[in-house]
Amino acid sequence: MVYENPDGVMIGLEVHVQLNKADTKMFCSCTSDYTDKDANTCLCAGCLALPGTTPVLNEKSIEYAIRIGLALNAEIEEETDFFMKSYFYPDLGNGYQVTQFDRPIVKNGSVIIEGEDGELKVRIRRAHMEDDPGKMAHFGSIEKSTGSIIDFNRSGMPLVEIVTEPDMRSSKEARRFLDKLRSILEYLDVFDGSREGAMKADANISVNIFNGQRINGTRVEVKNISSHKAVEKAINYEIMRQKDALRKNKALVQETRHYDEERNVTISLRVKETADDYRYFPDFDLVPMFVGDRVEGIRAKLPELPDAKRDRFVRQYGISDAHAKSLVTEKAFADLFESVAAKTDMKLAASWVADTVKGELNYRNLPVTAIGAEDVIAVIGLVSKKEISEESGIIVIRALLDEGGKPADIVKAKSLSMVGDDVIATAAREAIAESPEAVADYRAGTEKALNFIVGKVMQKAKGKADARLAREMVLKELEKM
Ligand SMILES: [Zn+2]
Repeated sequence: MVYENPDGVMIGLEVHVQLNKADTKMFCSCTSDYTDKDANTCLCAGCLALPGTTPVLNEKSIEYAIRIGLALNAEIEEETDFFMKSYFYPDLGNGYQVTQFDRPIVKNGSVIIEGEDGELKVRIRRAHMEDDPGKMAHFGSIEKSTGSIIDFNRSGMPLVEIVTEPDMRSSKEARRFLDKLRSILEYLDVFDGSREGAMKADANISVNIFNGQRINGTRVEVKNISSHKAVEKAINYEIMRQKDALRKNKALVQETRHYDEERNVTISLRVKETADDYRYFPDFDLVPMFVGDRVEGIRAKLPELPDAKRDRFVRQYGISDAHAKSLVTEKAFADLFESVAAKTDMKLAASWVADTVKGELNYRNLPVTAIGAEDVIAVIGLVSKKEISEESGIIVIRALLDEGGKPADIVKAKSLSMVGDDVIATAAREAIAESPEAVADYRAGTEKALNFIVGKVMQKAKGKADARLAREMVLKELEKM
């Protein structure tokens, strides 16, 4: 199957990643974790950009940027430097953002994602380091706001901005890219994606086919979209808006737009600036850095990343590719699976962790830590030893998440123990007696009729019978007749 991309959609992403695990901000010793802190309490003269303060670079932010670059299969610039990107904005204390210009620390990488028609390689043009401005909150919507307030806790947070080539062809591919990127970054332990503002994306979108003809589309940038789901929705809206403008022969301009999540529309903010508008200038407080000699040491300490782990799971545990993919999206899940697989049947471990446990956790919006490996091992043990049915196993997992406790106690409290052979045999005889038509159909060669009788047996045993055993019992009883 080849994806046709009928509108010639091209999507590039710029993803801002907060290195919020770097302990301190980029150029001062204020904390990089301001979660739940009161506004304007994680500050110093440096990150407020008061006159006379000088920046001291956080070493960890450099190491993290290199780690990210290597994980994105990219080249690391041996000598790199910082520039001042000037613009006036109330949340930007010194009137410029410290960023990189023509020598970004990372360039020419790639990430493989699941595309519309199989594997898709998304090229990474560059990734550069910069610092975050403060945060403005507007009263009311951004267009009609009557006032704004500023919280500088975020000011000076270390960021890496990852810029892709326009290789994505649908909103779904853009979302999968973001999911994959988040997974890689969490494996690298450079950021905590659950913190507010940890990851934001700008999407560049253009429609390049109209009426079946290839056209030179207009690139529109939608800025600061904060969730992966919102990115998907903003892109869908923007494709629709551009197609509509083309149909009505309205001019499209190269501009920056804002996505209003509540109304699900994009709104024009300003006509796109060019690099010249920012007056990039070398930052005179920061000297060029030679980082070339650190790369191999950092490479040697890189953890196993999702793709490599998936391949290993398939090889080492003999589980399906689909299960392996599902297990490696989060490192904590992969770890849970490996702990369970070490003590139970590997394939059972994969299906219980990837299907049941993951499904029940997602349904409740709970983290992996909500369940322990020992409990999952105990449930699989009870099911394998036929002490409880598979259905009851799922009930135990749900109870563990909702009420807590130990699997053995839950089995007792909910009387889930499998019923004995004699009970199943009695249920089988009853079911046969109650289903003369199904018995006749089965004897006439309709195999499916047997399922009806087995279903009745399971009903009588209230889900506490082993389905295979119930089937055997029904066959045995039918033979006796
Ligand atoms: Zn500070």
